[in-house]
Amino acid sequence: MTLTSLRQQLLAGEITPAAILARLAGGIAARDGQTGAYLSHDLEAAMAEAARADLTLPLGGIPIAIKDNINVLGQPCTCGSKFLAENYRSPYDATVIRKLRAAGAIPFGRMNLDEFAMGSATENSALQTTRNPHDPARIPGGSSGGSAAAVADRTAIAALGSDTGGSIRQPASHCGVVGLKPSYGRVSRYGLVAFASSLDQIGPLTHSVEDAARILQVIAGADPMDSTCLEVPVPDYLASLDAGVKGLKLGLPKEYFGEGIDPGVRRQVEAAVAGLAAQGAEVVEISLPHTTYAVATYYVVAPAEASSNLSRFDGIRYGHRAANPADVLDLYQRSREEGFGPEVKRRIILGTYVLSSGYYDAYYSRAQKVRTLIRRDFENAFTRVDAILAPVAPTPARQFGGTAIDPLHEYLSDIFTLAPNLAGICAISVPCGCTGFDGAAALPVGLQILGPHLGEAMLLRIARAAEQTR
Ligand code: GLN
Repeated sequence: MTLTSLRQQLLAGEITPAAILARLAGGIAARDGQTGAYLSHDLEAAMAEAARADLTLPLGGIPIAIKDNINVLGQPCTCGSKFLAENYRSPYDATVIRKLRAAGAIPFGRMNLDEFAMGSATENSALQTTRNPHDPARIPGGSSGGSAAAVADRTAIAALGSDTGGSIRQPASHCGVVGLKPSYGRVSRYGLVAFASSLDQIGPLTHSVEDAARILQVIAGADPMDSTCLEVPVPDYLASLDAGVKGLKLGLPKEYFGEGIDPGVRRQVEAAVAGLAAQGAEVVEISLPHTTYAVATYYVVAPAEASSNLSRFDGIRYGHRAANPADVLDLYQRSREEGFGPEVKRRIILGTYVLSSGYYDAYYSRAQKVRTLIRRDFENAFTRVDAILAPVAPTPARQFGGTAIDPLHEYLSDIFTLAPNLAGICAISVPCGCTGFDGAAALPVGLQILGPHLGEAMLLRIARAAEQTR
């Protein structure tokens, strides 16, 4: 059931928050043993909140599942890492959690993710395997794989994820749910465990575009605890939701429909584009010429920021601490060696390398310059079109690969989702049908809609139209 329809039932007295939680708990007991979306959940604490929920508030009595890298007071926040799994408990609520609570919502459940959100399959979680509810032999996508899988599996009504280079949109696409990455600065990052601070944003994963709008409405807006969160008014995202696409100009970037895209994905995305055109949108070809540099740029900038952010995990301040250290250096080294998984170590090494003296100019400064060119591509495009349409990922969900997965190949699969983060613009993934792939009869495909910075109202309006033509 959507959040929107549950709201109506709650207000009509047809269901109670406690009954919703009980049903979710039943679904988790029945199905999550296979899906593995939840790392933990505290039903008792949620029930206590349900008992005093104010149903007149915008999300009153609605449980929301939370990616396990967003702090909720008193709950674990493992980040999918052995480093934090042993003993860390959040000492405070992230701003998004504070805002959800103020709107009456109940944070319920800690959702699996790639370790420190580094990955595209949730296979980098050090703690648990999450399976795609559409086919248990396949990945749910990542890094917000637990959030997406639970919504698809109907063990969550809606979830929060984080998106640094596609981690909300790509699992949403692979699991057949809606996933919104807000513009950089739209939503506070305070209380999100930082991966790459200039790219990270928190956003919703939901059954419908309207649900995504309702959650964004609550979590968006300025925050004195995050200086990168913009002090600009939050528009009414529901007001223009049904305005349709008649007369809007939508751009198809030719660089997003070239080589390497699965024919079934292309067919579904093109059908969705045709559906929007049939509703009166004008579709024009555009060019985003620096697209080919997005992967290389991202995989310099994001690891650089990660290597710096993750230096706080030193065996002293947080989580895992190596036993019987010989001295302080030994303590740092062994705590990090034991606590971090292979992908996190790879990113730290990459990031430290590109920031080191002698290489800084060649890699990091250069990547920052290319990042500006990528941003300008979008600025130019948005002088011509209202929004941009594209695939989310080159293929539907792949099968589990474990250590046989080549990291470079995995990085390349992020090609369609990285640029919006580098440019700071907003983007959404909306289910646009299913296709056969690699032995599977039908796997979900997402349409990606990219909007200008702070253009979420326009984005949601187009997404709603796309959802209705499905
Ligand atoms: N797949 C990308 C990465 O591994 C993006 C992850 C994310 O958005 N958190 O870095």
